[in-house]
Amino acid sequence: MSSAHNFDELFYPNRWGRIILTSAEEIVGEKGMAALLNMAGLSKYIGNYPPDNMKKEFSFSDVGKLQQAFWDMYGPRGARVFATRAGEQSFNDGLKSFGSIAKAAQASMKIGSLEKRMSVGLGIFAKFFNTVSDQKVHVTEDEQNWYWHIEVCPMCAGRTSDRPVCHLAAGVLQAAYAWASGGQRIRVTPTECIAMGAPEGIVAMEKPTE
Ligand SMILES: [Zn+2]
Repeated sequence: MSSAHNFDELFYPNRWGRIILTSAEEIVGEKGMAALLNMAGLSKYIGNYPPDNMKKEFSFSDVGKLQQAFWDMYGPRGARVFATRAGEQSFNDGLKSFGSIAKAAQASMKIGSLEKRMSVGLGIFAKFFNTVSDQKVHVTEDEQNWYWHIEVCPMCAGRTSDRPVCHLAAGVLQAAYAWASGGQRIRVTPTECIAMGAPEGIVAMEKPTE
């Protein structure tokens, strides 16, 4: 299924690619970044980050290659720290860039418990993802968790792994929850991953206990 996708023809908006690269640079520095991009086979981005716009031009292949290079250079733990941070940064930057959508989301999230509001907010968020990027996601929930299903995943693009690699998504969702709840944190865990052979990626978000 996933192998049928051509990841060179699926895209994130340039701005998201730019954020991923700048967050990485904040962690490894300018020299480290050049080494990383060379290793990833992405030297075209050295000193040449994508423009700050929403054109869908940053390919899923490149997202996957970059995450893989981070993994190879800094180990799974380093890759996880980076991805979580980049994810949080992406969400917070997105709030600034998409003020009107954020306000609309907040308005529709006014009613009910935090849990209810979060269910509504995640649905809006998923729709937003599906609209501005080629990543395809949907949300389900049960008593204990919300589940963020990634049907087409840039983080896994062209990768195989014995453990989940989609921590970028976990970081974004952690930041989304913090925003919706006024600064609280919950457990956010990638449980299924296409790179591990699963049909879709799943990130579980543990519901807060009252
Ligand atoms: Zn994955």
